[in-house]
Amino acid sequence: MSFSELGLRAELLNAIEAQGYTTPTPIQLKAIPAVLAGNDLLASAQTGTGKTAGFTLPMLQRLANGPRPAPRSVRALVLTPTRELAAQVGDSVRDYGKQLPLKSHVIFGGVGQQPQVDAIRKGLDILVATPGRLLDLQQQGHVSLANVEILVLDEADRMLDMGFIHDIRKLLALLPATRQNLLFSATFSNEIQALANRLLDNPTMIEVARRNTTAETVDQAVYYVDREKKRDLLAHLIKEQQWYQVLVFTRTKHGANRLAEHLEKQGISAMAIHGNKSQSARTRALGAFKAGKLQALVATDIAARGLDIDELPQVVNFELPNVAEDYVHRIGRTGRAGSDGQAISLVCVDEHGLLNGIERLIKRDLVKHIAPGFEPDPNAKPEPIENGRNKRGGGRGRGSQNAGNRGQRQGKGAGDGQQRPPRRRSQKRQQA
Ligand code: AMP
Repeated sequence: MSFSELGLRAELLNAIEAQGYTTPTPIQLKAIPAVLAGNDLLASAQTGTGKTAGFTLPMLQRLANGPRPAPRSVRALVLTPTRELAAQVGDSVRDYGKQLPLKSHVIFGGVGQQPQVDAIRKGLDILVATPGRLLDLQQQGHVSLANVEILVLDEADRMLDMGFIHDIRKLLALLPATRQNLLFSATFSNEIQALANRLLDNPTMIEVARRNTTAETVDQAVYYVDREKKRDLLAHLIKEQQWYQVLVFTRTKHGANRLAEHLEKQGISAMAIHGNKSQSARTRALGAFKAGKLQALVATDIAARGLDIDELPQVVNFELPNVAEDYVHRIGRTGRAGSDGQAISLVCVDEHGLLNGIERLIKRDLVKHIAPGFEPDPNAKPEPIENGRNKRGGGRGRGSQNAGNRGQRQGKGAGDGQQRPPRRRSQKRQQA
């Protein structure tokens, strides 16, 4: 089925063509007609499925078709967990809506609020926002949400993980009772279910990719290596295999910085992206990476969440995540919307238990390699895994990327890879 058969307006079809999309993705096939019909939506979809266009296109159409109040007021509100995702959704809204007489703006914390206040004052139809900053601006009287017709909660599971539930509740109370609600979440915990029950009215349910499966288009492999040799092995692989655009995951912000510095010393252009970096530094790093000017972007989980980088060829888990589901999220950065990708995990003796947990979750054994010259010491003893929170006492400030410490809980036995996922996650496992 083509986009035109989904009932989209010519202006939107032109924008889709300009993006180079020829066929709707599975989530778009289901979401677009449902949203156009005015239904509420509950969608289980990860980044990489085309979900953004899935809600943005029909949202734009409904706004363009409906009566426009004068003066202009916020009629669609999209909430996202991170600044990067807000910026990306904002870009999509702008690109797809180019030929429509609708105005949009993105607001998030970590940058000055005045330009955001000015943009709101001029009049907006669509606001894309992270919850904390939006609430701040609303409380200062800079924005009214009284005319919102469509609410989108994107990556709702991450919003809850990052502690935004109170902000979301406060924001919901500011919206008119009658509106269309679209809820997107990669996973379904009891908390998400409860939110969906409160928020949604007889929703259309969409589940595209089975939960906790990794894309078939991603080639996944493990390199066994000693802890101390990981940095050199990574530099070696990047050079030998000529990886020109590689997203590398580390467990801690400190580790991300150290690794980026090491790669730079090896002549590989690299930058770290995490919550201790200023917004402008993060935007700069992401921009350089997307433009192909930076070979390696080293990121912590939350910083990387939702990054939309087209056809990312290479993802490396420099360290395995403590929560197996995060492996699936990380791998979701590559092999997106049908393109091929490769995901490599560097695994040392400390992480064998984590690897088992991941293989159980994704229900497949990963191919194991040992690189010549990097053979692991067979007598190496496992050590407790470095934990960003313990070392640094990490806070969970609202909107702070420190919330990336989610899932870094480690109890006794973590050293031998015993996973202790947060309770909410294990509940989800039982539901799945
Ligand atoms: P998302 O899941 O919304 O983050 O989208 C993932 C990627 O897929 C983005 O880079 C989109 O530009 C791309 N994309 C979205 N829809 C399509 C489509 N119908 N055909 C090809 N690529 C698409």
